[in-house]
Order: sequence, then C-alpha cells, then structure tokens
Amino acid sequence: MNHRVEKLVAAMKEHEVDAAIISQKENLRYFSGFTASEAVLLILKNESYIITDFRYIEQAQIQCPGFKVIDAPGTRTAPFVKEKCVSLDASRVWFEDNVMNFREYSSFREALDPIELVPAKDITSNLRIVKTADEVNNIRKAAKLADQGFLHILNHIRPGVSEKEIALELEFFLRKNGSEGLAFPIIAAAGKNGSLPHAEPSDKKLELGEFLTLDFGCVVNGYCSDMTRTVALGRPDPKLAEIYEITLEAQLKALDVIRPGITGIEVDKQARDHIASKGYGNNFGHGLGHGVGLNVHEAPSLSVRGDKLLEPGMVVTVEPGIYIPGTGGVRIEDLVVITEDGYENLTSSRKDLIQL
Ligand code: ZN
Ligand code: ZN
Repeated sequence: MNHRVEKLVAAMKEHEVDAAIISQKENLRYFSGFTASEAVLLILKNESYIITDFRYIEQAQIQCPGFKVIDAPGTRTAPFVKEKCVSLDASRVWFEDNVMNFREYSSFREALDPIELVPAKDITSNLRIVKTADEVNNIRKAAKLADQGFLHILNHIRPGVSEKEIALELEFFLRKNGSEGLAFPIIAAAGKNGSLPHAEPSDKKLELGEFLTLDFGCVVNGYCSDMTRTVALGRPDPKLAEIYEITLEAQLKALDVIRPGITGIEVDKQARDHIASKGYGNNFGHGLGHGVGLNVHEAPSLSVRGDKLLEPGMVVTVEPGIYIPGTGGVRIEDLVVITEDGYENLTSSRKDLIQL
C-alpha cells in the first residue's frame, strides 16, 4: 500500500468508513498513478482495486503497483464493488460527492443497498493540500516554463495582432518546450475585454494604448502552474496605469504577509483592503488566490471563505485584479509555495509595467 493510500485509509478509520470509491481523474492519479480518466478505484482497509475496461488494463498494470486490476466497466462496476464490500463486511463507503453524477450515484446506491454511501466531502482535497518536495518540483518546473513562455510572447505582442494569435503562439511555445498540455485554456484579453476576468481569446486586434492580460499555466508530470501578467501596448491611458499600480501594490501587500499560520482570509484582506482604500473595492470581485496542484484550482482558498491556516508545502496563487467594464482591466498573478518561514515565489517574470 503506498503512502497516499495509507493516509486515505487512516482517514477512513478516523471517520468509521470501510471503503472509498474514487473516480475523479486527478484523484486516480494521486492515489494510484493511473494517468487516464476511465477507471474507478475501490480502496478498502487492506486491499486496493482499480476497475477499468479492456483499453486500459495493461496501462493500469504498469502504472498502479499495489492495485489489483479488475476488468468490470460500466454497469459491472457497482456489482463488483458490492461483492468486495460484502465479503469484507464493509458497511459504510465513501464516494466523491463533488464528482459522481446523479446517474452514477443512483446505480451505486441501488447495487450497494443496504451498504451506506457516505459523502467524502473535502477528504481527498485535504489529503492533497500539502505538497511533497517532488510535487513542488513539478509545479516549479511548470511555473518556470510559463515564465519562459511569457518572455517569448513579449516578442509577438504588437498592434494589429489578435488575441487568438497571441494565445495560439503562446500555446505552441509552451507545448513545444515540454508542457503536457495547458493547465486551462489561455486567457488573452486586450482593451475593454480585460474587464472580463475569464475572457476567451477573440479576433480582436491589439491597439496602441491598451492593456493585454495573459493568464496561463503549464502542466509537468500532471502538475499545473498558473500565472497572469498584464502589459501595455505603448503608453497606457493614465487611468489604466493607475489601476496597474494599485493592483501591483495590493499583490505585494498580500505577499508580505504570506507565511505558515495565517489564514487565506487574512491574506485576501491585505489586497482587498488596499484596493478598496483606493476606491476600487467593487472592481475586485473574485478571491485573491487558490491552491494549485494536479488541479489548477484546488484547496486552499485565499478568499473571504479561506479559513484554513496556511502550512509549509501548500501552493497557492496570489492574483488581485481590478476590472472596469467599458475600460479594461488588470490582473497580476504569481504562484507561491509556503515555506517554513514565509514563501518561495515560483513565478519570476517581472511585474513592473511593461510597455511594448
Ligand atoms: Zn491564472
Ligand atoms: Zn489562478
């Protein structure tokens, strides 16, 4: 039994649960090493199964040492789980209540009756929240590659080029240089589009005087990175230059307090209060940051809901923004790992306002 499964089993014992059904793609990889998504793990106190279909049997045998590989896809999965649970006297079984859809849940509930299905809630995300040195290394590599991508794309940013062309060029560079894919579709938002925090790249061409916001991340060995930079095309409008400075100050104030023992709420407040003090409190409508790992958005949260204490090994983004509909927006995002005495910034791209 690997160390991660051992921790899950310890949590099962603590919650008086006898088994766990796991099917979220990132959890499959985390607990078993399986890199595809078409499988279900059944973890019992002393044995672990990976249930998949013909296409993935060999892959599972190679990737998942310690797991017995079972060919029982689709409608055969729940009866297999029932049989194992009955033979091992399991009466309470965790399921990922944020992953399983209603149809899957219904089929498990029907097949497992009278075994009780218990929502696992945040158990798996809490187990994944503190990263090992290996995990941080993968994230560090992904962040470094993103930094290189940013330097590369600066050479392509000029009036007349479209948001889509910028996003495509950046994606090509990142993938050619080792990113397994994108952590999420690249956001390239110019001019007025910059006020949409998650704008999709359009055919809009960049124009002098505008800002361009680029938000993107790489993937290395399954682990994501996430960074945002906003740059100016030529001399920016004074209003845009002003919100850039305020956003940067807010980010630096938040970074100033990041250390073990502080909550996400407190870190978020540093940036939020600064932006509000400058009159833009209503223009920063999202949380300050989020955890990053196998998922680009995971625990912990740096926001008004982030009541978890930060611990060494947690990896979080710090990304304040100011968005003014009809004018544009700014976001600056770094990725940091919490250390014993503070944090290490994994993003090293410059943050002074770049004018291209
Ligand atoms: Zn981002
Ligand atoms: Zn982010």
